[in-house]
Amino acid sequence: SMTSEEIELNHVLEAEGITVVETDLGEWIVQLAGERPSHIIAPAVHKTIQDVIELFEKATGQANLPAEIPALTAVARRALRERFIRAGIGISGVNFAIAETGTIVIVTNEGNGRFVTSLPPVHVAIMGMEKVIPTWDDWAVLLPLLTRSATGQRLSSYVTAVTGPRQAGDADGPQEFHLVIMDNGRSRILDSKYRESLACIRCGACLNVCPVYTEVGGHVYGSVYPGPIGAVITPLFQGLDRPSDLPWASSLCGACLDACPVRIDLPRMLIELRQEQVQRGMVGRGERLAFRWFGRLVRRRFLFDLAVRVGWLLQRPFARDGRVTSAPPPLSAWTRYRDWPALADRSFSRRWEDVERGV
Ligand code: SF4
Repeated sequence: SMTSEEIELNHVLEAEGITVVETDLGEWIVQLAGERPSHIIAPAVHKTIQDVIELFEKATGQANLPAEIPALTAVARRALRERFIRAGIGISGVNFAIAETGTIVIVTNEGNGRFVTSLPPVHVAIMGMEKVIPTWDDWAVLLPLLTRSATGQRLSSYVTAVTGPRQAGDADGPQEFHLVIMDNGRSRILDSKYRESLACIRCGACLNVCPVYTEVGGHVYGSVYPGPIGAVITPLFQGLDRPSDLPWASSLCGACLDACPVRIDLPRMLIELRQEQVQRGMVGRGERLAFRWFGRLVRRRFLFDLAVRVGWLLQRPFARDGRVTSAPPPLSAWTRYRDWPALADRSFSRRWEDVERGV
């Protein structure tokens, strides 16, 4: 689960000589690849079918696996089912914890959550403290919000509710059940202006619409939680005294706020996080100077027009069909991988003057 990724539980267990097997198909794929999930809901979204074939052939010793998704999922099912039967402990995440009955709810599409919580003799569930909601009535509102925003489903294939270990007369279930409620920086957020970030139900919708995430992918964030929500909660979990580039990894277009089913104002918090970094002196001197000069420039019409004109002249050798595709150093660091729109021959203000004069 993302929660166990957050505390790097797998590494700790493996260092103790314990074999750990991820059971969500996407998470198993990234585990076999020795990588981190690149998306909250679709951990292996960055992998091609050929990547998956190679990983499965290496893991199972089978050769010439077909490039067909049903055949590959059957390979995973066979391999994982054996693991479920032999596992000593099942560790799961939690989507919701309902306070009125002390029940945890796990939402999956593959049924792995149900195996993990019922086959091994011990079940350990790990959740962030923000997963607690008061009642089943609240859950009835939040569950469809999660499934619709995460995968476009009215309801996921499996919704598993666990209220403790196996009771007398139960056909299955673990003999022991342990619930770990994790803080890891969350109680610090509770009393802050970032409190609403704890309402996140980890649906991943903000990632899917983010122009930065869709361009660079999840691994570039370098954190367990990528995308707009990751850019907010990662520095908060780590503590604001640690420098982080993540709040700057956003165009502040607001698409994440529009997509979020619980209306978390991520753009506001990204701006607040940036402001805190500036106030704490965590922004480099060069950047502060650049913005100070930029601020002076845009406040003086004449200087701004002059700068645009000079920029237009300087870009001429490098502009092709309205784009600047190559530029000298240090700007070549950007144009090596991408371009930018060239400054127009006539600026908007010049064209507006023409319109007003009726030209
Ligand atoms: S911030 Fe909103 S859209 Fe993004 S994962 Fe959380 S609930 Fe979903």
